[in-house]
Amino acid sequence: MFFFFVGGLEQQAGRVISERVGRCIRCGSAADLVEREKVLKLFFVPVWRWRSEARDFYCRDCGLLWPQSMESFDEKQRSIEGVLRCGNCDRVVESEFKFCPFCGSEL
Ligand SMILES: [Zn+2]
Ligand SMILES: [Zn+2]
Repeated sequence: MFFFFVGGLEQQAGRVISERVGRCIRCGSAADLVEREKVLKLFFVPVWRWRSEARDFYCRDCGLLWPQSMESFDEKQRSIEGVLRCGNCDRVVESEFKFCPFCGSEL
């Protein structure tokens, strides 16, 4: 194989849409809402860049970039806790149940 590709697709913060509308999930500083920009790099030189529809938050303090959809991530995690899942069929079951109503296996 003589095709050796030094480079890759990177995501970085594009144009700022609104400033200081979020909070950094790592350091807690104010974060900007930005356009997600994808950059194709070849030998560490950007050769092509294009905008994606997605929006990201960008922290200027620590440089962290994360998707806007992750904003409610903590809440989702919390709601998942306290829910019992069947180890056999992976369906959500009431926590008082002793047996899975879907597949009948013991919980
Ligand atoms: Zn930060
Ligand atoms: Zn089951």
